[in-house]
Amino acid sequence: MSRAEEVAAGLERVRGRIASACRESGRDPDDVTLVVVTKFFPASDVRLLADLGVRDVGENRHQEAVDKAAECADLGLTWHFIGGLQSNKAAAVASYADVVESVDRRKLVNGLQRGAHERGRDVDVLLQVSLDPPEAAGRAGADPASLDELAEAVEEAGSLRLRGLMAVAPLGEDPAEAFARLASIRGEFTASHPGATVLSAGMSGDLEEAVRAGATHVRVGSAILGPRPQDK
Ligand SMILES: *Cc1c(COP(=O)(O)O)cnc(C)c1O
Repeated sequence: MSRAEEVAAGLERVRGRIASACRESGRDPDDVTLVVVTKFFPASDVRLLADLGVRDVGENRHQEAVDKAAECADLGLTWHFIGGLQSNKAAAVASYADVVESVDRRKLVNGLQRGAHERGRDVDVLLQVSLDPPEAAGRAGADPASLDELAEAVEEAGSLRLRGLMAVAPLGEDPAEAFARLASIRGEFTASHPGATVLSAGMSGDLEEAVRAGATHVRVGSAILGPRPQDK
């Protein structure tokens, strides 16, 4: 099988999974955007995906993402930054990312604002919320209790648009339970931020649970592209 055939088959399978999960929960498949996570895969794979109709791609490391976005600038894709973000890289990330999904602390907002302003284009922001217990080691994401304060900081930044929330299901917990918690956090959040309707949740292993819990975006890598080169 050629790489193009492999990628097409993976994409077809995942699109089918999203469609079934939507059918089962009475949702319109057009309301769920597939973000293909291309981290560790070459720009040539991004081109194959674009040929197959993918419009949204996700990356989690700044240096890799900035290079790939430049190589693929002609494709007009929407680039999602989904990785842990250092505050000294925030401005640089906002110079190519269209959506920054991993905003989990106030310290990132100034840099993102500066990068977006210099680029002369608004950048969409999702707040990454932690579904881990507060004492969990290596916890990524903001505490649910701090979301309102973080949201206000983003709303005050003139070149950032608060679009919603992002989360990753904790390892070792049933994702359905974690995403049920997420749905309730989102319910409260959108009550005070009615424009922030995006919910990015679900990966290769748990996209069905995420769709059932109301995800508007799923971030899927290995189920489409295969094992990442580093994990092979
Ligand atoms: C890598 C990554 C994904 C995709 O993971 P797969 O299991 O390969 O689908 C999704 N979200 C985030 C935040 C990631 O870092």
